[in-house]
Order: sequence, then C-alpha cells, then structure tokens
Amino acid sequence: MLIQEDKYKEIITELKTNNVALVAVSKLQSINDIKKLYDLRQRDFGENYVQELVDKQAQLPQDIRWHFIGHLQSNKVKYIVPFVHLIQGVDSFKLLIEINKQAKKIGRVIHCLLQVHIAQEETKFGLDEAELDETMNKLQESSRDYQNIFIDGLMGMASFSDDVKKVRSEMKMLKSLFDKYKPLSTVNCQLLTLSMGMSGDYALAIEEGSNMVRIGSLIFGARHSK
Ligand SMILES: *Cc1c(COP(=O)(O)O)cnc(C)c1O
Repeated sequence: MLIQEDKYKEIITELKTNNVALVAVSKLQSINDIKKLYDLRQRDFGENYVQELVDKQAQLPQDIRWHFIGHLQSNKVKYIVPFVHLIQGVDSFKLLIEINKQAKKIGRVIHCLLQVHIAQEETKFGLDEAELDETMNKLQESSRDYQNIFIDGLMGMASFSDDVKKVRSEMKMLKSLFDKYKPLSTVNCQLLTLSMGMSGDYALAIEEGSNMVRIGSLIFGARHSK
C-alpha cells in the first residue's frame, strides 16, 4: 500500500496551524512505507505491538521517536524501555512501577501518558475517573520513589461512531480531566500533552482541545491484517 503523500501534507499543514503534534501510526505497515514517510521528514511514529516495534526500531533510522500506543503488558516493558520515546497507553499503577523499575536499571527517564477510558460503547483499555484520581494521588504522595518515569499527559480513544454528539462529549470529558490535573505538578508529573484523535475523528479532537493526534490509515492507507 502506497502512502497517501498528498493527504499527509494536507494534514501536516492543518496540524501546524493548530500547534498539534502528529504521531503517524505505523502498526502493520511495512518498513518501506515507514521509510517513505520518514523521507518526508516525519519523525514521530506509533506502534501497538512490542515485537513488531522492536523489529522495526532495529531496522529504521535511530532518530525516529517511537511512541508505544497499544496495551502494554508488564513483562514486555523491558524490551522497549531502552529506546521508546513515549509510552502512551499506561493504564495501571502496576505498569508504572514496572516501567520505573526497568528504566532505573538503564538510567533512563521514560515519558508516559496515562490512558483514560472515555468510550461509552466499546470496552477499551484505560483508567476510569476514580482510578485516574487514585493514580494521581499515589504519584503525588510517593513521587520520590518514581524518579525514572515522567507523566507528560493523558491519552484517550473516543467511541468509533458516527454520532458526533456522543464522540464530542467523550472528548470533552477527557479534556476536562486534563484541565483538572493540569495545575498539579510534581517532580515526575506535569500534564502538557493531550493525545486524542485518530483518522476518523482528529478534526473533532482538535476542536475539543487535543494537542497530539495519532493517525494511521489516513496517511498509510488501509492496514495489512495481522
Ligand atoms: C491504530 C490506532 C490509531 C490509528 O488508527 P487510524 O484509524 O488508522 O488512524 C490511533 N490510536 C491507537 C491507540 C491505535 O491503536
């Protein structure tokens, strides 16, 4: 599948005017297609599967900033910690502890986004409001114990739905949580990034305050199935 070069350029221009960062979601896309996008100066790429990410990282230019956007199992953290730029799907305190532990071993600070569950219909991973609150509290109370992680912001996925009203209200909910915790800053937490919006709903997400979108199929074309 060829990358959609014109569409990519159009998106880039649109995002620049709004000061929104683009993570090109390259899961299940070929090394060749990722290289083509790299040659157009894209540097932030998102992957969902640990093994696939590790394989690609080894084969592609070292200045790519790799975002892990999938569901991460604790026992796989160690494979991506040496090079990952941002882990976007952190959905438990247990996972944060493991990331901190593995990062400490190699002397890195790993930047993370907490994933919040906002979709009404689909069951998707993520913290609910109470769990987010609990996580924030724990981080504040024991920030000195977790010096090898840094929480940069929140990430969420709205429902896959044509119901704009519903999608918008889910996005508003994530934005309000982001605003709620934004003033809170500790040695390892300062919410600056709100990662929300994908191929189907990124324009809406920007209207609702997103400053990082994760776009795959619109740029690369349809994904090869796994
Ligand atoms: C696959 C994926 C995307 C990109 O989806 P598209 O619809 O292809 O843009 C964004 N975010 C997450 C978490 C994903 O898993």
